[in-house]
Amino acid sequence: MPSFHPSDDLLMDYAAGSLSEPKAVLVATHLALCPTCRATVDAYESVGGALIESMNSDRVDSSLRDSVLSQLDEIEPERPTVMTREALAQVDLRVPEPLRGYLGSGLDDLDWKTRGRVGEWRILKDQASHTSRLFRIKAGAPMPQHTHDGTELTLVLAGGFTDHGKHFLRGDVATADETIDHRPIADADEDCYCFAVTDAPLRLTGTFSRFLNPFIDM
Ligand SMILES: [Zn+2]
Repeated sequence: MPSFHPSDDLLMDYAAGSLSEPKAVLVATHLALCPTCRATVDAYESVGGALIESMNSDRVDSSLRDSVLSQLDEIEPERPTVMTREALAQVDLRVPEPLRGYLGSGLDDLDWKTRGRVGEWRILKDQASHTSRLFRIKAGAPMPQHTHDGTELTLVLAGGFTDHGKHFLRGDVATADETIDHRPIADADEDCYCFAVTDAPLRLTGTFSRFLNPFIDM
């Protein structure tokens, strides 16, 4: 069970469907691992439903209300995916849906761009306002030191890391904003895989910056 969760604001925006695609993928992948936040999102969604029900009043144009309700009826329930035994064997269980669907292969088979002990793989490149990346950090290695102009969300998929005295493990979401100059360090006993979404370009600040700058332009 994760110990570190997305903020309530993020969960509320997720329930309202107003998050950007990269952040929605990150939150939804956390939800796959976190019953607590699933319950919170369910609650927000039923509040949204109740709000629409409360439109059943004379003050609201009944045709508007009917149109909203009929749109809700058109939303199809998700169908479970049926997988063959072979397909199941290919699945990397470390990566829950919906993130898994964006990878196209298991974590080990991604085309990692590696510098030293840190591998990086960009996804959702069409989302120009965000930087979305998977990281593979070798056991005991630091991530590149950096600060941000915006918010960075990091979801741990495997292994763990320590940042500012907090220990993040699978399913945990670390939130860092522009006030934090940080350098997470992967646990010593296992490589750490995580998914990070930043809603602004990164600025590298550590001694690695010259070395790692090529990453930024990828
Ligand atoms: Zn959670």
